[in-house]
Amino acid sequence: MRHIAIIGSGPAGYYTAEAAQKQWGDGVRIDVFDRLPVPYGLIRTGVAPDHQSIKGVSKRYEAVALSDNVRFIGNVTVGSDITIPELQELYDAVVLATGAPHDKALGLPGEDLANVYGSAAFVGWYNGHPQFVTLDPDLSGSTAVVIGNGNVALDVARILAKTRAEFTGSDIVTHALDVLDTSQLEKIVILGRRGPHQIAMTPKELGELGHLHRACPRVDPADLPEVDADALLEPGQRKSVNHLRSFADIAADVRSEKPIEIEFDFFAAPKAILGQDKVAGVEVERTRLEDGRAVGTGEIYTIPAGLVVACIGYQTSPIPGVPFEESAGRFANDEGRILPGLYCVGWARRGPSGTIGTNRPDGFSVVEKIGEDQPEHGSKAGCNGMDRLALERGLKIVRFRDWKKIEEAEIQRAREGAPREKFVHVDHMIDAAGKA
Ligand code: NAP
Repeated sequence: MRHIAIIGSGPAGYYTAEAAQKQWGDGVRIDVFDRLPVPYGLIRTGVAPDHQSIKGVSKRYEAVALSDNVRFIGNVTVGSDITIPELQELYDAVVLATGAPHDKALGLPGEDLANVYGSAAFVGWYNGHPQFVTLDPDLSGSTAVVIGNGNVALDVARILAKTRAEFTGSDIVTHALDVLDTSQLEKIVILGRRGPHQIAMTPKELGELGHLHRACPRVDPADLPEVDADALLEPGQRKSVNHLRSFADIAADVRSEKPIEIEFDFFAAPKAILGQDKVAGVEVERTRLEDGRAVGTGEIYTIPAGLVVACIGYQTSPIPGVPFEESAGRFANDEGRILPGLYCVGWARRGPSGTIGTNRPDGFSVVEKIGEDQPEHGSKAGCNGMDRLALERGLKIVRFRDWKKIEEAEIQRAREGAPREKFVHVDHMIDAAGKA
């Protein structure tokens, strides 16, 4: 029997489990670990709460999780409850599918001021990640600055702009909904250090900004390249730029019908976050493109702002003893191989890029490597060994059937029109699982 431990129960983790099942069928036993008592990683705490159809992919992971040779080992933190060397003693292969849960730092003066957040924290807050429950952002200012031109920046701007009614059908947590209800925002500035042709925003997500009840996007026509230049873009990127062009065409009197403006400020690199204890503004330098790179022009201006959310990408959490590539914010690896018997997959392997589906071929690829490296079945203790160790250490493991109890309780306590009301404290999850 081949024994595999997968650390992380998000898309990368479950696609790897699925690939291992396809490859070895009954000849493999897989334990999928998570530090939370609930599975699905970014599907639960990263994907926007108003994008429920994307979250539907968790049904596919559930099918994998419910098969006889896959177990969910929730509420176990690798690195403290159990170490990587201990896992390697027990399993033939250990696959790190730990994602990239930490914010990349801006590296600017003032980024530690109050009401300045990274997107991992801010998104985690409105998605009910236990680590960020206490964030309590202050939305009493009239302007928010969202830094970055990727899909996460779009998610954050949209969530800040929506009315309570527009969250019907979403699973945004009530603590976030209540704070968003107090918002006095009149302007959300999306800051891009490069131009419209360099955005990392996908068309569907960008188009959503054109259909908000109380907010209207604004693009300065002067920032847009000549239309002919769009022909050089990939089709998806061209569609995104078409949205920007349509936003630029919205007449001022139409825009003024909505109380919130979402302004795209292109060629604008943040230089400093200003304020005493709390953020009061962002100092920005106008840029121009040189060989596709943003180069400062020396023109400096200030955007007064009471809230800043930096959506500039993520990095993986290092694990003691596991080689780490600081500059890329991921484990040092050669196509998923880290050390003998130790692998990585998904964002932990390649950094925070691509869609959820990108993780599927990633999972198949790492399983192929495991097969090449260890063609023989091992003689490790696997799941039984893990059970013995958990008993010795008194670990309060949450299994998939326990998660189903948590899920059932979350569905039962949902607000009207919402699919669930997530538990946001680990203790409450454990209670709901009947494991207290
Ligand atoms: P991203 O797509 O890599 O975008 C990061 C943005 O931050 C870029 O515009 C980048 O500009 C900018 N940036 C980086 N460092 C900066 C700095 N120091 N100062 C100013 N700007 C800076 O990252 P993301 O938005 O976090 O998304 C991560 C991944 O999740 C992506 O693959 C994304 O597509 C995916 N995602 C998908 C969805 C969806 O499909 N609905 C939703 C959310 C996330 P440069 O280009 O100039 O570097």
